[in-house]
Amino acid sequence: MVERACSESCLCLALDVGATKLGAALVDRQGDIRRSAKSHTPEGCDPEALFLAVTDLLDGLLASEGESPLALGVGSPGPVQDGSEVSPLNIPAWRGFPLRRRLEDRYGLATFVELDTKALALAEGWRGAARGKRNYLAMVVSTGIGGGLVLDGRLVEGRTGNAGHVGHVIVCPGGRPCSCGSRGCLEAEASGWAIAAITGRPPSEATPQVIERTGQLVGLALASVTTLCDLDLIVIAGSVALGFGAPFFQAAVRELHDYAKQAYAKETQVLPAGLGSRAPLVGAAAVAWRGLDGRDCWHADPECPDLPV
Ligand SMILES: [Zn+2]
Repeated sequence: MVERACSESCLCLALDVGATKLGAALVDRQGDIRRSAKSHTPEGCDPEALFLAVTDLLDGLLASEGESPLALGVGSPGPVQDGSEVSPLNIPAWRGFPLRRRLEDRYGLATFVELDTKALALAEGWRGAARGKRNYLAMVVSTGIGGGLVLDGRLVEGRTGNAGHVGHVIVCPGGRPCSCGSRGCLEAEASGWAIAAITGRPPSEATPQVIERTGQLVGLALASVTTLCDLDLIVIAGSVALGFGAPFFQAAVRELHDYAKQAYAKETQVLPAGLGSRAPLVGAAAVAWRGLDGRDCWHADPECPDLPV
């Protein structure tokens, strides 16, 4: 089995699967990206063409580095079944694709597959804006909306591994139909996809009114979440939230504190994600290191930053 020694030279392989692009990196124990590469996600419905694009990307990265990685971590859009099969809603080529087994067969590495939003939560707690926090939600407001929840220092799984999926909190009862089958979900009202459907324009061309409404709806959802979960912090990533910037965050915070009136909820902070474009690959690396059960190492060595367990 893998040595648990916490050496600076230890590397893992990180893979971020996205609807439009694939990212890969070699990442060390500290969460620093040593080398990275990216490519486009092939369009179409051929599962093997997509897997070939993934292995081409990883092969290129491995060929450029003399050192052998200890593990492979993957962040993928959901749903992810039991950390092994992936069926990303926005990537039709893979339905029940056995990604973990296929990568293990190909590379002979211990391989761990996790929802990309939960990987983000790990990354932000490890090296980002939630570092040192034990109770937080990390969410993405992008084409879709999702999140990962850390309570008492632990990444919350839930019954099927989907805890933290804030995109389907109801913010407009009887509102717009959602891809999940319900109506008035946050994702159906405030995601990039929803904004484009409602306004006929991409989020990058949103008016101040649209930015304000999006922030309010996110803040409304967060009022329920923070009251329910007693959070220190909410970290928001994603191209829509970060692209909208300060007016979006101000509207979200205002709405959050307008509705979350319990004394314990008044201190909850809202911050932009700290890792920016590095978050997906740092998250995938966190999935790998965490999967290797190197937690003793994280806590025993003061040089190793804490990772939510
Ligand atoms: Zn929904």
